[in-house]
Amino acid sequence: MDFLLLLVGFRMYFEVKTLRAPPMRTKMSRIAGSASPARGAKSVKRRMGVSGARQARQVANPAETKTGSAFDLNALRRDAYILSQLQDGVVCADVNGIVTYWNKPAERIFGWKAKEMLGRSVFERLPPGEARAWGRKRFDAVINGEKSFGVRHDYHKDGSRVWLEVHSTRMDDGKGHPVGIVTVARDVTERYKTEQKFRGLLESAPDAIILINADGKIVLANAQMEKLFGFTRVELQGKPLESLMPERFRASHLSHRAVFFAQPKTRPMGSNLELFGIRKDGGEFPVEISLSPIEIENETLVCASIRNIAERKQTEEKVRHSEAMMAAAQHLAHCGSWELNLENSDINTSSLRWSDECYRIFGFEPGSVAVTNEFFFSRVPVEEHAAITQAVAAAIAGGGDYSIEHRVVLPRGEVRHVHEQARVQVDQRTGRPIKMVGTVQDITERRKVELELRRSEDQFRSAMQHSPIGMALVAPNGHWLKVNEALCAIVGYTEQELLVSDFQSITHPDDLDADLGQVRRMLAGAINTYQMEKRYVHKDGRFIWILLNVSLVRDDDGRPLYFISQIQDITIRKQVMEELVKAKEAAEAATRTKSEFLAMISHEIRTPLNPILGAVQLLLGQECAPEQSELLKIIQNAGEHLLTLLNDILDLAKMEAGAATFMTVPVQIDVLVQGVLDIKRQSAHAKQLELLAELDPNLAFCYLLDEPRMRQILLNFVGNAIKFTPQGRVTLRVERHQVGPGRDQLRFSVRDTGIGISAEHAARIFEPFYQVDSSSSRRYEGAGLGLAICRRLVDLMGGQIGVESRLGEGANFWFTVWLDRRQSLAGSGTPWPGPLPGAGQRRILLVEDDERTRLVLATMLERADCEVTPAETSAGALALFNPGAYDLVLMDLRLPDLDGSATTSLLRQRERLAGVRPTPIIVHGDPAEKQQLHAAEQAGANGFLAHPVRQVDLLKLLNRHAPTATAGKFEGDDLPSSGLSCIG
Ligand code: ADP
Repeated sequence: MDFLLLLVGFRMYFEVKTLRAPPMRTKMSRIAGSASPARGAKSVKRRMGVSGARQARQVANPAETKTGSAFDLNALRRDAYILSQLQDGVVCADVNGIVTYWNKPAERIFGWKAKEMLGRSVFERLPPGEARAWGRKRFDAVINGEKSFGVRHDYHKDGSRVWLEVHSTRMDDGKGHPVGIVTVARDVTERYKTEQKFRGLLESAPDAIILINADGKIVLANAQMEKLFGFTRVELQGKPLESLMPERFRASHLSHRAVFFAQPKTRPMGSNLELFGIRKDGGEFPVEISLSPIEIENETLVCASIRNIAERKQTEEKVRHSEAMMAAAQHLAHCGSWELNLENSDINTSSLRWSDECYRIFGFEPGSVAVTNEFFFSRVPVEEHAAITQAVAAAIAGGGDYSIEHRVVLPRGEVRHVHEQARVQVDQRTGRPIKMVGTVQDITERRKVELELRRSEDQFRSAMQHSPIGMALVAPNGHWLKVNEALCAIVGYTEQELLVSDFQSITHPDDLDADLGQVRRMLAGAINTYQMEKRYVHKDGRFIWILLNVSLVRDDDGRPLYFISQIQDITIRKQVMEELVKAKEAAEAATRTKSEFLAMISHEIRTPLNPILGAVQLLLGQECAPEQSELLKIIQNAGEHLLTLLNDILDLAKMEAGAATFMTVPVQIDVLVQGVLDIKRQSAHAKQLELLAELDPNLAFCYLLDEPRMRQILLNFVGNAIKFTPQGRVTLRVERHQVGPGRDQLRFSVRDTGIGISAEHAARIFEPFYQVDSSSSRRYEGAGLGLAICRRLVDLMGGQIGVESRLGEGANFWFTVWLDRRQSLAGSGTPWPGPLPGAGQRRILLVEDDERTRLVLATMLERADCEVTPAETSAGALALFNPGAYDLVLMDLRLPDLDGSATTSLLRQRERLAGVRPTPIIVHGDPAEKQQLHAAEQAGANGFLAHPVRQVDLLKLLNRHAPTATAGKFEGDDLPSSGLSCIG
């Protein structure tokens, strides 16, 4: 406060003294002379005039007196003039308090003349006692270096009190020794009184209040201000107001203030600004500032009242937040709130307040219309008005709650269902209803769902009633809750009879435990539904087989409510099934018989054919007359044709009986194709046809397939192509058609340039016995079975077969099949390498029951320089077999006592016991007898020859497995460990 008074009161004085730069205290210290002793002393000397000359001499700097400035008369005159113009009293005293200078304003302020005071103690003008003691105390403090500045009261010569703004400073001799004090005083009695009144007002205000001058500096601050900003009043005084606000607000504040001070009178009083304040500790907080101009001693100041609005802001934020939450909640819940004022005598025009959601429910933009009770009714269908009015009246009369559902018509005509609930609020004093506060909930969707539910319940009921399947709702304890007509018809009981009993009572006793077990599992939550076949006991006592489907319905808490059971009468189906099972078993038995019969027939027909063909081969190998040779060739051709036909018929029959089996081994496609072409090269050559192969380079190294079967199809295709192509070429092509994980789909095709097939015939040629030219005079041989067999084989391999052809334009027969890729031939029955035939005499044990075959085979072997020991049966072979005594055993797969595989295993056993190396065992028989063949391989057979045995094949195998004349010629691991080397 002292500082501020000084600011206001002394400004003039210091400006005159030309010390313009702040801060004030610095200015003051310069006047005292301590900061600039030379000048200070000089000034004092000048001010003191004649009566102060003695004292001035004491303080003058001797060095300076020598300078020209000490005698600067102009400066002296100027200072004297300034001093004479001063309005403030100036009093100087020496260290003892003897007055050395007393100017005119001092005479006016204190009432004492200069002549009365000069040379007297400065304290004598004070009333004796306390005042004088206090004056001395202050004097001593200043002499001791304390600066004294402030507003304080003093005494006039006439005894009255005066309020002075006083500044007292010690004067030094330039070496730090005091020589006296100078006091400048201004009479501020009038202003002080005004300010005191004003201060009282400031301190009693609840807000922080400051006075700001036109420079924007704080000249006055109250205690609240100290509290709010953390600065003391002394710190605040003189501070520019903008330093109390964050940087970002300063520019706008400054321009605002400039405008304000430009026309303070026209500014509206108390304008409120919201900005941020900055505390001493740097913390920011929101404030609201109201400004009003104030005139003090002809100076326009601004009184700023500053209020911390942090709490209000928080509250506002909370309110905004909760209002937003409420609005969001109402929106989500489709539930608005409203308030109806009941104080108006005419309820229709009473004001109604709607929340935003209320507006939306009624189809309006929030706040877009002023709502009254009348307006509300204009949105509700007329037929509902009475009910609503009654409900409202009842609520008001009874002071109770109001709850009603009604419809609302939206501006575009859409209709909504709403549920309203409200409570009437009553004036506690008068008991009169004041208002109704309520909610309105959009229940359109719920209504729809309810309607849907009701509809689906009706549908369920009607579906159940009219279902051709028996249906029932059953309580968890088994009691029938609802049964339909179909169920009554199944069990022979009426609905009434069933509804007083349970399902247990009509369940067959043998099936009850199983049924109850399922029910228990379902109630325990282990299963959700179950299906079972069980028997009911009909009312007339007979058993009925039913198919039961049960599911459990639980309530929201998971408690079982009831079972839904579907009951189908399957008695007839059961009977049919039983008969079907019997029929199937009979059919399977028949198929087995048929297969056995086919195998037997195959063997029986081949058995005589073998020696016929063998004998012919042997005879053809001998020298005979050309005519005989011709006849023998006819027999051979006819025999081979017969054999092919026989093989085809048996093959087809087996496949149709489902007896065909496949044995897959890794096969190289190029080797397979080459083999087929090798076989057919001769006949192609005979017709001067080109025979070509085209292989896709993307084919894998080998594929898993049934080599004989695949060869059979390809031979058929190529054979037909050659047969039906008079000239040109036949091309066998294999391509990778599709790629799958671990397998490829291959497409085999045989294209020829032959006679072709018309579309009509092409559609049928895969049927058994179908031939394009079936006349007796036809040019081409064949029974029409080849393609039928091919189709069956491809079917069994899961592939597809077809032909693309046009009459006269050649044909392209194809099939596709998925085959597993293989990177090696492991398990493919790698042939046993050996030298060429005829390398020395070999000892062969020949086991064959058919005498003619035995004779033919023995002759073939003997011609290959073998020594043959014949045996007719398995027992005979075992008797003759001396381990290590034979180079090879050739044995029929079918023998009258033990079959080939069993005999092989016994022979191997004998060898193991004797500890000798195994003798190669070759079995011969029907290639279709896969199982026996497989068993022989398992037992230890090394090779297989297909019937009818051809001499060349026999020699090949003989050479492969018994390469030299003596036993023990097998090198390394002896025989191949897996797979039979097959010929034929
Ligand atoms: P077939 O033993 O009679 O040849 P297939 O079943 O192999 O028996 O063939 C049935 C019929 O399909 C043949 O008789 C022939 O009419 C016709 N056919 C088969 N392949 C060709 C082909 N490449 N060109 C023309 N016709 C063919």
